[in-house]
Amino acid sequence: MNRDERAGMERMLEDIRREVLYTADETGLPHFHDAVMAAMAAVPRPCFVPQGLESAAFDNGPLPIGHGQTISQPYIVALMSELLQVGKASVVLEVGTGSGYQAAVLAELVRQVYSLELVPELASAAAERLQRLGYHNVEVRQGDGYHGWAEHAPYDGIIVTAAAPHIPQALVEQLRIGARLVIPVGDAYGSQQLMVVTRHQERIDEHTVLPVAFVPLRHAPPDRSPTLH
Ligand code: SAH
Repeated sequence: MNRDERAGMERMLEDIRREVLYTADETGLPHFHDAVMAAMAAVPRPCFVPQGLESAAFDNGPLPIGHGQTISQPYIVALMSELLQVGKASVVLEVGTGSGYQAAVLAELVRQVYSLELVPELASAAAERLQRLGYHNVEVRQGDGYHGWAEHAPYDGIIVTAAAPHIPQALVEQLRIGARLVIPVGDAYGSQQLMVVTRHQERIDEHTVLPVAFVPLRHAPPDRSPTLH
């Protein structure tokens, strides 16, 4: 990072710390773990935003990444990473790779990240970007996250970065006992709540954390390939 980038990063971290304090009553989290803040400091956000928007990359706000999608606000990326309660040995699933930024932050925190993205162009661009930046512990695949990624389950944490109308059952089933699913739930563009779902041996716990605004989790279009009669 050059001097300007270091100053931008410092400003971003400061903005996150301020918002952590500002939301502490609602989230119950007066500060985030050092490991989470160190992960935020380690990932160069300008590498994940489209050309021409680099100057806004350290602002604490979402930015467009094409295909009608957005890279989330840094504070929200930090909050969701914090809520997952994962560590160096963890294996996590992300639904909604987008730019790959959240996946990179998680890759700094855990052993292995699997990430699903519905839009093929975003999936391949993110996979290429993450490889180029040296994130070899992230595997991106094009697919519909409603079904999760059963092959690598159970996960030590699952994070969904698009708003779902309901909690997808497949994702709860792919959680290890004791692990958490962090997911925005609610209308496409209306009232959404960030939720934490914890899978226990005999029951599932759910609690809401904060109102949020995410792009919707969409269903894969039906297969339109012609059928033979
Ligand atoms: N985590 C991303 C932000 C993602 S925005 C980042 O850090 O940049 C939400 C993403 O979810 C979009 O890229 C969108 O295409 C994707 N998405 C929407 N519905 C999906 C689904 N059913 N399965 C997988 N990805 C989906």
